[in-house]
Amino acid sequence: MLAFTVSGLLGGVIGVSQWPWPMQVIALLLLVSLTSGWVLLRIDRDFLHPMRRLSEHARRLHEGDNTHLMMTTYLTERHDEVGELARQFQHLVEDLKTHNAQLLEQSLIDPLTGLGNRRMLENRLDVSLPLSRRLDCTVSVLMIDVDHFKPYNDYYGHPAGDECLVQISGVLRDTFRRETDIVVRLGGEEFLVLLIDTSSQEAWRLADAMRGMIQAMAIPHEYSPTVDVVTVSVGVVTSPPGVSADIDAMIACADEALYACKAQGRNTTQARMLSSPAEAIEAHV
Ligand code: GH3
Ligand code: MG
Ligand code: MG
Repeated sequence: MLAFTVSGLLGGVIGVSQWPWPMQVIALLLLVSLTSGWVLLRIDRDFLHPMRRLSEHARRLHEGDNTHLMMTTYLTERHDEVGELARQFQHLVEDLKTHNAQLLEQSLIDPLTGLGNRRMLENRLDVSLPLSRRLDCTVSVLMIDVDHFKPYNDYYGHPAGDECLVQISGVLRDTFRRETDIVVRLGGEEFLVLLIDTSSQEAWRLADAMRGMIQAMAIPHEYSPTVDVVTVSVGVVTSPPGVSADIDAMIACADEALYACKAQGRNTTQARMLSSPAEAIEAHV
């Protein structure tokens, strides 16, 4: 129809109607081909090409290619429907990114105390242990357990128990402040601290100072057979420089030291070197 109209117009203008009919047919076919080619080119340039770019961007995001998180301005600054689609797509991706980051953070944090949880410990260990090996420095693990916490909960109630755990977490946070310190609540009334590049004496000193601060908070615990305030026991193990720190062996050794504290009457700190687990280097009652 368009071709006929255009050919009519051209016919009028350049006298095609005077041509022999086979020439007229050829001219018409030529015109139809040129017009359709032009329309197809416009469709490809204005619609198919940007759609291919958009789907390429989506494919890269799906494959986790973080180098192309931002969509090209070629798409987002267009004033047509494709531009609108690209902008909405970009907003969606940014919202999902923020939401995912929040979920990841929540999955690493203990909701009661705000300290890291077991998963955070595993993530941080993946960095800290190879780093300590490379720098050839010490690694210390502190296992901390609240003494007679069951009777505390039984008599003061679970909410008071929770509040007590929050206060203890505050002391841990204040004591272990270096960027490389890892402080997590393992679960229940058990906490773990990991220190790198800290001598065994210093690890013991910090652990025992923290134990003393928790006692000094003087949270009443009438039903504790140890003392009449909330206390903790702490097992410390240090892996010396040059000894490749195996976290499971360290936790097992710190646990042994912790149980030795419990057996000694609680509210104590015991420290050991990983290479000589049976030997207690410091004990405090
Ligand atoms: P020990 O001195 O030998 O460590 O004795 P314990 O009573 O502290 O140890 P036990 O393992 O028998 O009890 C731990 C208690 O911790 C049991 C439970 O009442 C309490 N508990 C565990 N998780 C939570 C929690 O998230 N909130 C509160 N409030 N209490 C908890
Ligand atoms: Mg326990
Ligand atoms: Mg306990």
